Amino acid sequence: MTEQRGRLVVISGPSGAGKSTVIARLMQRRQNLCFSVSATTRDPRPGEVDGKDYFYVTREAFDRMVETDALLEHAEYVGNCYGTPRDYVLQRMEEGMHVLLDIEVQGAKQVYAKMPDAIMIFLVPPSLRELKNRLCGRGTDSEEKIRGRLERALAEYSEAQNAGFYQYIIINDDPEVAALEMDAILTAEQCRFSERKSILSEV
Ligand code: ADP
Ligand code: 5GP
Repeated sequence: MTEQRGRLVVISGPSGAGKSTVIARLMQRRQNLCFSVSATTRDPRPGEVDGKDYFYVTREAFDRMVETDALLEHAEYVGNCYGTPRDYVLQRMEEGMHVLLDIEVQGAKQVYAKMPDAIMIFLVPPSLRELKNRLCGRGTDSEEKIRGRLERALAEYSEAQNAGFYQYIIINDDPEVAALEMDAILTAEQCRFSERKSILSEV
């Protein structure tokens, strides 16, 4: 059978919902999936590694990436800039890998405009109360930052509803179930008629 091309998988959802946690579990289940490491101007959290979690860059370096069109999309989130390096994503997709982006709604909008066949997923916690618990429990953000992220979460819920491009919602109650659901989405997407119809002319 002809090799399938790689798909872009976009995961959005409020900070603290558990995207990184669920993505890590999903990556363990899937060989043909890679994670796009974003550039950011925010400081690393304890335990985060440059080049693995993010590329930590200065505002000047980030602006240069924007000017030279090195980013597929970019946006500001609670006072910091975030963006997806374009070349890595396009190269890996060409190699047949599925590429996963963990990005907020404004960036997702830019990606969808450029690549409308991306798989668009919104991941939420079971409740906003639980979101607050997770942000506090993570212990990496100041009280002020947590307040900002909770406010932004509410704004993102209405942005996601208005955007109209998200196809799936994952409710991250149990992270293992959430990863399984995500895995099931990717499997179903791979089985789409449009993805596999070339076999009909090969046999
Ligand atoms: P995000 O990447 O969306 O900002 P994280 O993956 O960093 O979120 O998760 C935020 C916090 O919530 C972390 O401390 C993580 O261990 C915890 N967490 C993630 N998923 C769950 C879950 N299903 N139940 C309870 N805690 C969770
Ligand atoms: P955090 O600071 O909690 O790691 O991330 C804050 C928000 O930025 C999250 O919603 C995350 O999805 C988003 N984000 C991370 N990388 C990117 C990126 O490259 N582009 C955009 N638009 N958002 C990103």
